[in-house]
Amino acid sequence: MKAVVYEAFGQAPELRILPDPTPEPHSVIIKVEATGLCRSDWHGWVGHDPDIRLPHVPGHELAGVIAAVGRSVVRFREGDRVTVPFVAGCGSCPQCHSGNQQVCDDQFQPGFTHWGSFAEYVRIDRADFNIVRLPDEIDFATAASLGCRFVTSFRAVVDQGKVTAGQWVAVHGCGGVGLSAIMIANALGANVVAVDISDDKLRLAREVGAAVTINAKSQPDVVAAVRDATGGGAHVSLDALGHPQTCFNSVANLRKRGKHVQVGLLLAEQAAPPIPMAQVIAHELEILGSHGMQAHRYGAMLDMISAGKLTPQQLVGRRIDLAESIPALMAMDRFEGTGVTIIDRFRG
Ligand SMILES: [Zn+2]
Ligand SMILES: [Zn+2]
Repeated sequence: MKAVVYEAFGQAPELRILPDPTPEPHSVIIKVEATGLCRSDWHGWVGHDPDIRLPHVPGHELAGVIAAVGRSVVRFREGDRVTVPFVAGCGSCPQCHSGNQQVCDDQFQPGFTHWGSFAEYVRIDRADFNIVRLPDEIDFATAASLGCRFVTSFRAVVDQGKVTAGQWVAVHGCGGVGLSAIMIANALGANVVAVDISDDKLRLAREVGAAVTINAKSQPDVVAAVRDATGGGAHVSLDALGHPQTCFNSVANLRKRGKHVQVGLLLAEQAAPPIPMAQVIAHELEILGSHGMQAHRYGAMLDMISAGKLTPQQLVGRRIDLAESIPALMAMDRFEGTGVTIIDRFRG
């Protein structure tokens, strides 16, 4: 198969021919039809992820068709259209038994713990437990765009933030995660305040449902601006970027008993940002994380997409081929473009 592979962190990946993967008894092989390009892939490539063993094939936001099935897999067969959460569970640890595969003690993460989907084929383990069947009306590029950003936002807004109609929700950062969160919170009937430093991204934020937008460049006191716009602070606030400043603002702009959900990754030297903990105590704030979403929660999200309430296809940006994924991956830290870049040609 053709695959994008790197031998050293930070060194240019190459397009190579590698042996096709073969299934373990509990795995399936997926013929990749679309895969998203994500900042996590960039973090992995530069060496921020201790799970990666070299040489490595990146890619964790995939959709495709099952091409081969291990002998003990019972729920899937060749030809099924499927996707997979970027954190897949082992099926046997206490987290998996409680239905929280997104924090499994022995995670399978395609593109991190195992080779990923910047390739013609990818192997997914414990398939009965982790694979999600796609409704016919959801195309592969849209399914891949759910990737980690949309599903993580769905869990952050619905399951962790427990956002309800009429609440004020602040979303800091309007990249893929932020725009997804805005769309989802708006679909639930919340009023969304979107914060970014780019007018282009704020325009997109309004298109997907933000009621108020704040440009943090022209309005340096973001906390005051959010409090003002929400009549005293957000009920739920998300750091959708993953930066010490947006994390701080997202906690500080909450109203009493509000919830902060950390969705953007904080890595390397940013891993332990300052939090206004005195305010957390005095105002009984809640601080939550959101890390992917379990396969068994995909149904609720896919139903909202099929029903037209959520339109993740609006967030699909550039479509590129496998060779073009190499320069795109290496440039991922520069925040260029809007929307999710999808690789949808693998065999040219
Ligand atoms: Zn587990
Ligand atoms: Zn991702």
